[in-house]
Amino acid sequence: MIKNVVLIAAPGAGKGTLAKQLEELYNRVHISTGDLLREAVEKKDEVGLKVKSLLDSGQFVDDETIFAVMRKRLAEDDIANGYTFDGFPRNIKQAERYDEISKDSSIVIEKVFQLEIPEEQLISRITGRRLCSNCGKIYNIYNPELTPKVEGVCDSCGGSLYKRSDDNEETFHERFQTYIEKTQPLIDYYKEQDKLVVVDASMGSNETLKKVREIMEKTSD
Ligand code: AMP
Repeated sequence: MIKNVVLIAAPGAGKGTLAKQLEELYNRVHISTGDLLREAVEKKDEVGLKVKSLLDSGQFVDDETIFAVMRKRLAEDDIANGYTFDGFPRNIKQAERYDEISKDSSIVIEKVFQLEIPEEQLISRITGRRLCSNCGKIYNIYNPELTPKVEGVCDSCGGSLYKRSDDNEETFHERFQTYIEKTQPLIDYYKEQDKLVVVDASMGSNETLKKVREIMEKTSD
C-alpha cells in the first residue's frame, strides 16, 4: 500500500482535513508546513519571528526556512510508517530539492493527490474554518459535516477552537493567486513523474476520503 503522499490544492480545499483522516486511518503522519510555522509563531522563536508577517499577509516563506523546518520534522521517528504532506512542496524549486534529498530513500514521494474544487466554494471553507488549539482537528461552522457538537469546543479532546489569522477574505485572494502562480505548476511536474491523481473534492470531506482510499488501497507493493 502507498505510504508517502503529497496533497496539492488551493487554500481551503480540504488538504488538512484529508491528511488528518489519513493519519487516523493508516497511521501516516500528517506533516503540515503551515502548522509547523504557526507553532513557531506561537513559540516566538527565531523562525516564528521571521515568518509571522508573511503568514498574516498570505505570502510564501523562503525555501531555506521551509527546508530547515522540514529537515527537523523529518528527523523524528514517527515518519517511519509514512506521511501525508500538506502544504509542501509549494513550488517547483521545493519539489526538485525534495526529490534530490529523498531519492532512493524511504521518504520518497509515492503519490500526489490534487484536490479539485470550484473557486467559489473556497471562501466559505476558509472563513468558516476553525481549528482545535490542542490537537489541530479542523472544523467548519458552515458545513454540517464538520461542525463541532458544542460551539467553540473540540469534539475529540475538548480543546478550544480558534480561527487562523490568515483565514479572512482579503488574505484568501493573495493566497489563491500565489497558489495559481507558484503551486499549480507542480501538477504538471508530478504528472510527468506519473505520480499525479486528480480527485474531485467538491462533494465534501467524506466523499473525498472515499475516493482517496480506493486509490491508496488499490496499489499494492
Ligand atoms: P497553510 O497552512 O498550508 O495554508 O500555510 C499557511 C502559510 O504558511 C502560507 O500562506 C505560507 O505563508 C506559509 N507556508 C506554508 N507552507 C509553505 C511552503 N511549503 N512554502 C512557503 N510558504 C509556506
